[in-house]
Amino acid sequence: MRYTGLIDKYRDTLPVSDNTRIISLGEGNTPLIRLENIPCEMGTQVELYIKYEGLNPTGSFKDRGMTMAVTKAVESGSKAIICASTGNTSAAAAAYAARAGIKAFVLIPEGKIALGKLAQAMIHGSTIIQIKGNFDDGMQLVKEVAEFAPVSIVNSINPFRLQGQKTAAFEIIEELGHAPDYHCLPVGNAGNITAHWMGYTEYHEKGKADSTPVMLGYQAEGAAPFIHGSRVHNPETIATAIRIGNPQSWDQALKLSKESNGWFDAFSDEEILATQKMLTEKEGIFCEPASAISVAGALRDIKSGKIPDGSSVVCTLTGHGLKDPDTAIAQCDTSAMINVNPTLEEVKKAILNNM
Ligand SMILES: *Cc1c(COP(=O)(O)O)cnc(C)c1O
Repeated sequence: MRYTGLIDKYRDTLPVSDNTRIISLGEGNTPLIRLENIPCEMGTQVELYIKYEGLNPTGSFKDRGMTMAVTKAVESGSKAIICASTGNTSAAAAAYAARAGIKAFVLIPEGKIALGKLAQAMIHGSTIIQIKGNFDDGMQLVKEVAEFAPVSIVNSINPFRLQGQKTAAFEIIEELGHAPDYHCLPVGNAGNITAHWMGYTEYHEKGKADSTPVMLGYQAEGAAPFIHGSRVHNPETIATAIRIGNPQSWDQALKLSKESNGWFDAFSDEEILATQKMLTEKEGIFCEPASAISVAGALRDIKSGKIPDGSSVVCTLTGHGLKDPDTAIAQCDTSAMINVNPTLEEVKKAILNNM
């Protein structure tokens, strides 16, 4: 049967009725890929998987939430949606609004959004409002303006977003046949870690999984409110998707971290980029910088023994690497590119000299 998106697949667990018009682009159903080369080189027996959310229709997990948020906005008669965004939410909002035939307004921090995400927001025809401020400023403004304007907020404070996003946990349980022992995620607003915990506990309560995973949340050092225990005023990191100092799901994330016996940790931009590159070179998997932090976290905790040998671990790769081509190219040595004349002789030489 044709796959028609996560609302259709999981409608029994979602707040939709038979009459609801579903706004879908076929999101969800993303691959769970077992890492081979990195664990082998490390000599660990940990079963390490990545959930490749970059393969959603607009290239990030935000589509899981957006299909629900836009479906419910349309159902309630909304003609416009609005969000603040570090980039991926605006890309998803723009695409799903186009699909629904409604307007999208997106507030983005000027100069701080990755090129691919900006391209998406623009080409889908959303109205882009650039602010001379960061995501947290944008979020505050969106909450205030929605009280006066006829627009539905589709940030993760919209409860339907998390309902859609919880389905990633369902897919993992179905694919593995059980919940993993550990689940590692990048944390910005903390909506996604909250949604995953909802999904895992829901399936546990329904008897579809015997256990729930330990939830591990990782942040960039310059934007690590969960490590400091308080909001960060001027968050800064190359991983723009998690450049957030005032997480909207603060209480929920602290609560689930405790309930699951989990922890938070932070990584420098250098460590984030090194892990991004390692995934591309050793496993053939290209994710954006923010996503790589989940694998950086898993590897650090496996090495230290905090994650014991023999465990099963899932890391969510939240967004596709093509979202941020500038950061990818800047990491590579362009002088290693070989320029030749279009002759067989020169091309042959270039190959033989580099075997
Ligand atoms: C939105 C986003 C995050 C952060 O998710 P939260 O729910 O805000 O914690 C991480 N990575 C990418 C690529 C994102 O787009």
